Amino acid sequence: MPFSDFAGNPETIHRLREMLARKRFPHAVILSGAHGSGKYTLALMLARAMNCLAPLTDGDGLPDFCGRCSNCTRIAQSEDLDARFAEAVEARENLRDTDKKETRLFVQTHPDVLIIPPDPPQMMIKVDQVRHVIETIYYRPAEARERVYIFTSSAFMKEAANSLLKVLEEPPEFASIFLLTENAGELLPTIRSRSMTFNLGALPFPEIESRLGQLRPEWNVRQRALVARLSEGAIGRALSFNLESYVAARGHALVMLKSALGAGDHTELFKVTESYRAGAEGREKIEGLLRTLYSLLEDMMFLQSGAGQLVRNTDILGELKKMSETADFAWVRRAAEGLGEVERGLRRNLLRSLSLDAFATALDRVS
Ligand SMILES: [Zn+2]
Repeated sequence: MPFSDFAGNPETIHRLREMLARKRFPHAVILSGAHGSGKYTLALMLARAMNCLAPLTDGDGLPDFCGRCSNCTRIAQSEDLDARFAEAVEARENLRDTDKKETRLFVQTHPDVLIIPPDPPQMMIKVDQVRHVIETIYYRPAEARERVYIFTSSAFMKEAANSLLKVLEEPPEFASIFLLTENAGELLPTIRSRSMTFNLGALPFPEIESRLGQLRPEWNVRQRALVARLSEGAIGRALSFNLESYVAARGHALVMLKSALGAGDHTELFKVTESYRAGAEGREKIEGLLRTLYSLLEDMMFLQSGAGQLVRNTDILGELKKMSETADFAWVRRAAEGLGEVERGLRRNLLRSLSLDAFATALDRVS
């Protein structure tokens, strides 16, 4: 997948490739952007462009990668980060207890490219992970031209951040460090000042819709429009969007809201809240429902305040319009506050169904 396949942010990609071409690539690069904006994809593309054995130069004369040589293919094996991460976690789980404690988590499919994910259960980058980086970074690469280190999160333990800073103060000539973050402000100012920051901005909806047209042909036009809006311009989120479970949760959310507005029947509502009683799928399911309820209430507010162009659930616009005419602005606001209470209840670990029932009855009282 050469650079032309990267979705959006063409100026940023151009600048990075220009620096590669002039051999002025910074030792430390912060790639900052929303979840799913392509930070990891881009870092792996740059790692391949640095190390490709048969580098391509397309029309613009800037470095690209072939995707087929042994460096490209091995680096590409890291692309499915969730899967590689799960394998690393499992491998550690299978170790003896004493070894388990000593073992830090990495993803590595090429000897010179190391990916450092946050270490569970705290999901933070730990000092032992950075120590391993320090132990290897000063050796010349074995099979690549450039050693590449990719930190996939900016949640560093304090000691880990300080250790990283030492590397950044004296980076070797032949190594590049990528720091991926949703919020560069989380990184120490001293780390930021020794790195060059690039932001990956949100993509316009039509661009996401057209990419989905190619990559998710099973979705129809209305579904693609919906997913583009719900992913807030992040192509990775759009591509991994679980449309089926969203639509299921939204069906439940609509039953709850309509019942509260006096338009639905209570047997339906009971069936919905009952389905959240079983703990099997647990928290994730109810959190999905809450997110969906929020997004519907927000869309209703957009409609009520004349900002219809901001509505995300565009495929059920007619239904939303009807609902927002039945409820007044104050009702929607109180409903959103009620949801906030349910969430707080969840955090206090109340019985899941109890607070969901309470929300449904509270809504009823409001109307
Ligand atoms: Zn290659």
